Amino acid sequence: MIVTTSWDDGDILDERLVELLSRYGMRGTFYISRTYRPRRLSEDRIRVLAAKHEIGAHTINHLDLTRLSDDARKNEIVGSKNWLEDVTGDAVTMFCYPFGLFDAEVKQMVATAGFRAARTTCQFGIGPYRDRFAMPTTLQVHPTLVRRASARDFRQYLLGRGLHWGSRLAPLRITGAMLLGWSHFAETLLKAARTLDDSNIFHLWGHSWEIDAAGMWGRFDALLNFIQQLGCRVRTNGELWSD
Ligand SMILES: [Zn+2]
Repeated sequence: MIVTTSWDDGDILDERLVELLSRYGMRGTFYISRTYRPRRLSEDRIRVLAAKHEIGAHTINHLDLTRLSDDARKNEIVGSKNWLEDVTGDAVTMFCYPFGLFDAEVKQMVATAGFRAARTTCQFGIGPYRDRFAMPTTLQVHPTLVRRASARDFRQYLLGRGLHWGSRLAPLRITGAMLLGWSHFAETLLKAARTLDDSNIFHLWGHSWEIDAAGMWGRFDALLNFIQQLGCRVRTNGELWSD
C-alpha cells in the first residue's frame, strides 16, 4: 500500500501542512498557481518548500483550461512549468488541472509540455492508475464529507458524481465510518486497503486554507499519525511515475 498526498494552490497556509508532513517524515506534492491565492507563498518560500517536498505546476492564473484559446492555454501550462523551474532550479514534472477541469486537448498539451503525469480532482480512486494524465485521488480533506444521512444516501452521493469505486473495495463495510466524516472514512479505507498490493495507492489531497477554516488541523494530524503507524510507504505524486 502506497500513500501519496497533494496540496493545491500555494496558499501561505501550506507552510503549516509542510510542518505537519515533515514531522511525520512524509514528503508531499504541492501544486502551486502563480497568482491565484490572495495570500500566497513568495518565491523565496517556494524555494524553501521545494527543498523538502515536491513542487508541481498548477498554471499561472488558475483558469478553466478547457475554455481558453490555444495560446492562452499554452501560456498557463508551459508558462507555469517554466516559472517554477526558474524559481526552484529543479525540473517540474507533475501537473494539476485547475478545478479538475480538462479535456483531450488539454491533456495532450500537458503531455507535450514535458510533464510526466497530471492529477485531477476525481475522488475514490485507489489505483492502479490507468491514465497517467488523469490521475484520480482517493479522498479530499474537506468538511462536507460528513454525516451523510444514511449509507444508501452516501452511495447515491457517489453515483451522482460518477465516482469510481474500486471493485475490490466494494465489499468493505465502510458505510458507518463514512457517516462520521472524512477522517474516519480515511482510516477505515486505509485499514482495508492495507491488505491490497502495492499497485494500490491511497491519495489524500486538499487545500490548507480549508483545513484551517474548518478547524481540521487536529484531525489531519491524527490521520498522519495513523498513516505512520500503519507503516504505509509514502511517495510524492511524481515518485509514483519514476519508472
Ligand atoms: Zn487549484
